[in-house]
Amino acid sequence: MPELPEVEITARRLGAALAGAEVESALAPGMVAMKTIKPPLDSLAGNTIEGARRIGKMPIVEFRGADGRLDLLVHLMSAGRLQLFDKRASLKDRRSRVLIRLAGGGELRLREFGTKQRAWAKLLPEGGVEADEMVVTLGPEAWPAPPLDRLARAVDQPRHLHPLLRDQRAIAGIGRSWVDEILWEARLSPFRKGSELSSEEVDRLYDGLAVLGAAIDHYEEVVGEQVPDKLPMPLKVHRREGEPCPRCGTTIEAVYFAEHQTNYCPQCQTGGRVLKDRRLSRLLK
Ligand SMILES: [Zn+2]
Repeated sequence: MPELPEVEITARRLGAALAGAEVESALAPGMVAMKTIKPPLDSLAGNTIEGARRIGKMPIVEFRGADGRLDLLVHLMSAGRLQLFDKRASLKDRRSRVLIRLAGGGELRLREFGTKQRAWAKLLPEGGVEADEMVVTLGPEAWPAPPLDRLARAVDQPRHLHPLLRDQRAIAGIGRSWVDEILWEARLSPFRKGSELSSEEVDRLYDGLAVLGAAIDHYEEVVGEQVPDKLPMPLKVHRREGEPCPRCGTTIEAVYFAEHQTNYCPQCQTGGRVLKDRRLSRLLK
């Protein structure tokens, strides 16, 4: 699932590759992908791409045409990818959700893996992104980290840190992979409550957010012009149950919270305790 670092490198690479490109046509083979109808997607024909940026986990492609600025706000959900291809997709490609065809033959493609159609896009006039309901409700960006007092306010909620940090309204950009890394860096249990953190623990959480910037730096080094389907994520604990903790050597454990797996080091994060599985479906199987 693309989270803040993955979407940031996607926006940087797309922005560099697409700036100045002219749109020949645009269409949405994924019938439910476009969540706006006005302006229509095909009004992008003749527009020039100005660049790409990111808010939270959402990439944005910027266009300019006779009618001014237009922004394509994209939500990749869990399995979407926004990529540039030299050649156009076959219209039979069932993964295609939105196709922006470029003069010269290239194509910017919103694809989605799996059978569900959940990824979406909105074409918005200038200022529309900032006013969009998905954007106005976002918490502060997780990277660059918000000021310490802003972070302290954002997490001052009586909720477990694992779902709290993944809640885009609390703090924007973190998902299931990077939450494990941030909590491990901060040496905090996924089941600690945000409102129960000491100021020293908030300091550690603030420092832990630096893994997001480190991941972006890593991608800058290893990712070429084309962002691959699967990025080489520099993860230390997520999905590494059974492996030794890189800090202390204790075996990394897995615990399920609702349907989500979270990984942690008992020595570094939970005072040596191995957490009980909280996934009800496991008990029923
Ligand atoms: Zn450890």
